[in-house]
Amino acid sequence: MYRIPFDRVNWITSSFLIGTALIALIGLPIYLFKFGIDWFQFGMFSFYLVATMMSITVGYHRLFSHLSFKAKWPVRLFTLVFGACAFENACLDWASDHRRHHKHVDHDEDPYDISKGFMWAHIGWLMFKLNPEPPMDNVNDLRKDKLVMWQYKYVHWIGLVVGLVIPSILGFAWNHFNGMNPWTGALGGFLIAGIARIVVAQHCTFFINSLCHTIGRQPYSSGHSARDSAVMAFLTFGEGYHNYHHEFQHDYRNGVKPWQWDPTKWTIWTLSKLGLVEGLRRVPDSKILLAEMREARLKAEKHLAELRDHGPGPAERASIAIHEMIERMTANYHELEKAVADRVHLSREVLNRWQDETRATMREITRMVSALPA
Ligand SMILES: [Zn+2]
Ligand SMILES: [Zn+2]
Repeated sequence: MYRIPFDRVNWITSSFLIGTALIALIGLPIYLFKFGIDWFQFGMFSFYLVATMMSITVGYHRLFSHLSFKAKWPVRLFTLVFGACAFENACLDWASDHRRHHKHVDHDEDPYDISKGFMWAHIGWLMFKLNPEPPMDNVNDLRKDKLVMWQYKYVHWIGLVVGLVIPSILGFAWNHFNGMNPWTGALGGFLIAGIARIVVAQHCTFFINSLCHTIGRQPYSSGHSARDSAVMAFLTFGEGYHNYHHEFQHDYRNGVKPWQWDPTKWTIWTLSKLGLVEGLRRVPDSKILLAEMREARLKAEKHLAELRDHGPGPAERASIAIHEMIERMTANYHELEKAVADRVHLSREVLNRWQDETRATMREITRMVSALPA
């Protein structure tokens, strides 16, 4: 049994997290069993869930924390209001924590440091205060935004009114005008679009700090714990391509490949076509490929180092072959590195060819290594 450090418990946050989870787990099934759910309640839940999650991913994260694009006031206002409904604190606090997470990832100053354990990164960092609260000296740019400061001041009131009171009123009104018990409707709005939606949105956000640093691949860098996973991208509105995101945090895309599931990226792009946001930041394809090639080389070198322990025989032959492949990869890497440094434009075809070659080489190396006797 772990000893719970009661003197360090953040009682308000802990009560909220546990209280809402208990209501969602116990109160909601009882309500659904007694009264069921109609399409209006379901529609309200869906709208609130998407609005809340998108406000966190588009607004709190990619806009305010990373400045990956510029937004006009309607987008800032919407994401600040519905971001408050996630009950994940004010945008200013969130962005400050998040910028420290990127700067000190996997180290002690990282607020949701995964090296302190899965549960710590998921929820423990909110429930306990291990270290004194660091100064919020990394969000001075955001302090100049009047809307951000307005939300900072009234965040809990905005969350309470828009996130809980309004769905209750809408549920009341819907049932009233449709000849049903209005109080049943109000309770439904409170429980389903209110509490249950908060719990789902919160844990989907927390997954970015826990699971996205635990499961998935590391195609761009193994220098930090962040990982790319399509499953996580689905659960987090596109934030699951977290390895890419930690490598290139100012890119407005997390799922950088056209086929990757990133509704947040699609929303930002659509808003730009509507003239509501602008200045979308993208990392050039050549730089992205350079990171992929660097990481592939590192992995190949790791395989080679492991083979050295095997001694002569098939392992020796494999290591000679892998050594040659690494030399070719290194030559390609330096050629691309020079092209990037000289800002030479490389066609899509050239980049694709290098990418295909890198991936084929890596597949070949994996095949050779796994074919060796243990
Ligand atoms: Zn992260
Ligand atoms: Zn981030």
